[in-house]
Amino acid sequence: MLPQLVKLRGVALDLLFPQYCVGCGKEGDFLCSSCRQSLPEITPPLCPRCGRPQSSGILCPSCVAWQAKIDGIRSPFRFDGVMRQAIHQLKYRNLRALVIPLAKLLHDYLIAYPLSAEVLVPVPLHPKRLRERGYNQSGLLAQELGKLTNLPVVEGCLIRRHHTPPQARTTTVEERWSNTADAFVCRDRELRDRSVLLIDDVSTSGATLDACAAALKDAGANSVWGLVVAREI
Ligand SMILES: [Zn+2]
Ligand SMILES: [Zn+2]
Repeated sequence: MLPQLVKLRGVALDLLFPQYCVGCGKEGDFLCSSCRQSLPEITPPLCPRCGRPQSSGILCPSCVAWQAKIDGIRSPFRFDGVMRQAIHQLKYRNLRALVIPLAKLLHDYLIAYPLSAEVLVPVPLHPKRLRERGYNQSGLLAQELGKLTNLPVVEGCLIRRHHTPPQARTTTVEERWSNTADAFVCRDRELRDRSVLLIDDVSTSGATLDACAAALKDAGANSVWGLVVAREI
C-alpha cells in the first residue's frame, strides 16, 4: 500500500509546477493539443500478432517464424518525434505527471480498438532498477489506465528475475531474445484463467512483452495481450 501512496504523491507534486509541452515548450499542458494532433500514429492494416503496419493485414514474415507466447501487441504510436521526447521525460527526467495524458491516449486507443482485458499488469522493473529510478513508469501508466477503464491493476505477481542490460546497448535481435527469454516469473497463480493486458511504455522487439506473456501463461493466464504507448518500427 505504501509504495503506491508515495507514487501518487509524486504525481501530485509534479502537477504543482507550471506545465510545459514536451514537444514545443508551450506553457499550459504537458502535451499541447497541436503536438497531440501531430503524434506519429500507427494505423491499420497491421500484423495481427506484432502490431506493426503490414499492408496485407496478415501475419508478417517475422511473426510466421516467431513462436510467440503473446497473443498480440498493439501500440497507438511509433516511438518517434514528440512521443520519443515524452517517454524520455517520463522515464529519465522524472516527469511522472506525463502518465496522465499518456494513459488517456491509451484509453482512447482501447475505445477505438478494444482488446481482451480483465486485468492490467504493468511490465515490472528489476528491483535494482526500481530503486535507482524510484518509480516504475509502466506501473504508473497501468494505475492511471486502470482508473480510466475501471480494470483492476495487478502488480507484484510478475517478477523480473534478471537485471538485463538496457536493450539499446545490445546489438542483435538474437541477443535481446536470449537476454529476455526467462527474465520473468509469476510468483503465484492469481492470474489463472484471466485475460491479461500487459502495459509498458515502449516496445522495441517485443521480446520483453513476450517473455512476460510466457511467465503469465505458465501461471495459467488465459490470454495475454500487450499494449504500449509507443513502438519502435
Ligand atoms: Zn506542443
Ligand atoms: Zn508481425
